[in-house]
Amino acid sequence: MRVLFGAIADDFTGATDLAGLLARSGLPVSLRIGVPEEPARAEETTAFEVIALKCRTAPVADAVAQARAALSWLKAAGAERFYWKYCSTFDSTPTGNIGPVAEALMADLGTGQTLYCPAFPENGRSVFMGHLFVGEQLLSESPMKDHPLTPMRDSSLLRLLQPQVKGAVGLASRMDVARGPEALKARLNDLYGRQIAHIIVDAVEDEDLLTIATASIDMPLITGASALAAPLPRLYRERGMLDGGEEAGARPSVGTGEIVLSGSCSAMTRTQVAHYLPTAACLRLDPLDLAENGVAAAVDWLKSRTPDEPKLIYASAEPEAVRQAQQKLGVEQAGLLVEDALAELARVALDLGIHRFVVAGGETAGAITRSLGVSRLTIGAEIAPGVPWTYADISGKTVALALKSGNFGGPAFFTEALQRLETQ
Ligand code: ADP
Repeated sequence: MRVLFGAIADDFTGATDLAGLLARSGLPVSLRIGVPEEPARAEETTAFEVIALKCRTAPVADAVAQARAALSWLKAAGAERFYWKYCSTFDSTPTGNIGPVAEALMADLGTGQTLYCPAFPENGRSVFMGHLFVGEQLLSESPMKDHPLTPMRDSSLLRLLQPQVKGAVGLASRMDVARGPEALKARLNDLYGRQIAHIIVDAVEDEDLLTIATASIDMPLITGASALAAPLPRLYRERGMLDGGEEAGARPSVGTGEIVLSGSCSAMTRTQVAHYLPTAACLRLDPLDLAENGVAAAVDWLKSRTPDEPKLIYASAEPEAVRQAQQKLGVEQAGLLVEDALAELARVALDLGIHRFVVAGGETAGAITRSLGVSRLTIGAEIAPGVPWTYADISGKTVALALKSGNFGGPAFFTEALQRLETQ
């Protein structure tokens, strides 16, 4: 099928979030984990192709190389419009790669301007006067200030982005957006005339995102969280850009056996873990213990459970415990120990006959899908805004994976996800 839209996401849960919102349109969406080694074959591509990278915290050169490789695969597949997807909390550091990747993609596409809009109103992320809010709090006052890998201590997207890029950064404010797509386009042109290449665009509600998506529909590249892409299938359809043959396939049937694996320390995940604890057999992983004794005890624990009983293995911990582990082991090592342990446990779970995996944490989900050898996901029903069930074929078995980034979902997400799979 002809590829219309090619997206590059900086992590796995970000990619599933984006793919899930696109799939709300009823159109088929394909998600590839990493850049496929083989060029795309027309008979297996869909109108919306999403490539998940694992580069949110990667050094700039590495992230840029990955994103450029993804872009050239998508271009060769025939994609005409491109999207760079990062987190709705703009996770990055001053040496972060959101800006450098955007700049490299712009250069490869020969375009002089792009937009940045991480707003996701349905999940409480909004941008006003270039400042990012999480619910009613500024980003820098939200729990994101304590993120294990990317603590966000500033809320100004202009200040966060400018040190990352060579070109000038400007703002199209809510006032510009409120005047509608034509006025916003005029504002973008005006900024372009003043050689402002990187435009932060305010959005506080879905209507704003529709305005922005409409105004930017002919731009080769736009960037943001997932929500800015959500109106695109509808806009493409209204403009007659789809050829009409696109239809999502039937949902695959999945065997039983379930497990929840959580490596996210985000505030919402900790609430979800606390909520699920009384209803499941649970095992807590401690990075200090993993450093000393390895994962064998956890593997034994998992083997002692039955596939069908509700189970949770989690490393999720309070900010103070995370800090202590990081001080002793180093930030990267602490994270890797947990990711590797959960990845191995996922493999053991698969061998034990478990087919249903709920995973919390973006990096964690990346590590787990890689260790399961998953390279392509089909997108299924949405569990919570931005979190769909996805299906993968692993050595002839169909496995269902719900890959949830840190702050997504409500307190009962783990139970809701597994129930949703039963009833769809
Ligand atoms: P989120 O989606 O919430 O950002 P991620 O999985 O992307 O979650 O990131 C969380 C990181 O924190 C991972 O690298 C994970 O291995 C690490 N981590 C998890 N638990 C702990 C812990 N108890 N101490 C230190 N680091 C941890």
